[in-house]
Amino acid sequence: MKSNRVYRIALFDGDGIGPEIMAPTRQLLEDVSKRIGRKLEFESLPAGAQHFARTGEALPADSIAAARDADAILLSAMGLPDIRKEDGTEITPQIDIRFALGLYAGVRPVKLFPGQPTPLADKRIFNTDFVLIRESTEGLFAHMHEGQVVDNEYATETLRITRGTSEKLFDFAFRLAARRAEKLGRPGRVTCVDKANVFRAFWFFRSIFEERAKAFQNISADCAYVDAFAMWMVQRPWEFDVVVTENMFGDILSDLGAGIMGTLGLAPSADIGDSHAVFQPCHGSAPDIAGKGLANPLAMFLSASMMLDWLAGEHEDPALAEGAQMIDAAVAAMLDEGSLLTRDLGGTAGTEELSNAVLRRTAA
Ligand code: ATP
Ligand code: MG
Repeated sequence: MKSNRVYRIALFDGDGIGPEIMAPTRQLLEDVSKRIGRKLEFESLPAGAQHFARTGEALPADSIAAARDADAILLSAMGLPDIRKEDGTEITPQIDIRFALGLYAGVRPVKLFPGQPTPLADKRIFNTDFVLIRESTEGLFAHMHEGQVVDNEYATETLRITRGTSEKLFDFAFRLAARRAEKLGRPGRVTCVDKANVFRAFWFFRSIFEERAKAFQNISADCAYVDAFAMWMVQRPWEFDVVVTENMFGDILSDLGAGIMGTLGLAPSADIGDSHAVFQPCHGSAPDIAGKGLANPLAMFLSASMMLDWLAGEHEDPALAEGAQMIDAAVAAMLDEGSLLTRDLGGTAGTEELSNAVLRRTAA
């Protein structure tokens, strides 16, 4: 099927290994879009630590404006430990952009491909395929620069949960579960992770979840306390489907998810709001291996796949979802074959060899 629709993709090449993994990802998207008969138009936007070092600006207003105008935003990795602001903190445009564009749903798939390195021995681990959704604009992060240490005796932080954002977050989770149910051909389920037994704010969070669950009768809904859930993530992660949680809990649990997956090199992510979305690998700019051609590009490829999948839903264009599946299948095949893997996956290949092998599989 042909379509004249042009999708405009804003690219942030970033720092460190960022440009090294962005280049093959762009090629991958160009190849796949040709196969599905869609046109992608790319615009690279300046931002990041190196840009900050040159200009004093980490995320220029023009870049944000252009990203806001695009249909989707693809980001590799930003920030470098040696380039800091005057107060000594690292620049974090990848976080600032979440607030600038209201990207409240941090989507972190925890999925294992057969053959992937994992610290867990139970064979059922390879059935693990759930999506963790981390609320990304509230909780303790809503007031993150206002914490106080008083008289060197006590310290306080404020946690904020709002009805508006929570409702949007839960609706997002239920809609995602519905789409996954259709795609995977099984019933959908959403689990809310909180600490409602101890904190009023989480009781409020859970009560909004239970209210919204009523609007999605076809999806089953349940709740879990975060401590118990952390244990279940290790003992039987294959039982979950969509998991939705508050910002700080999500921050911690998404790293646990990456731990189960065995490598950051295979962990993609999305940050999604009402009308904008940023897709990027979970890992950082990996300055220790930058410029050496060793970076694993697969997390970036899988982030590009999530982008196509999201665009498919936003624009009701199933061809884009097919493109996403082509990328996922090529990645799965590479892992299954196991002959051309980067060092973090136990192989000896470089970025270029692994990228070219994936590109050969997705080429028309
Ligand atoms: P950030 O603060 O931005 O999350 P970080 O310092 O926590 O960054 P990363 O930049 O993600 O961490 O790097 C952590 C480790 O993982 C490093 O040893 C790095 O080389 C490795 N690593 C990260 N991404 C990749 C990749 N795509 N391929 C191979 N190794 C990677
Ligand atoms: Mg980190």
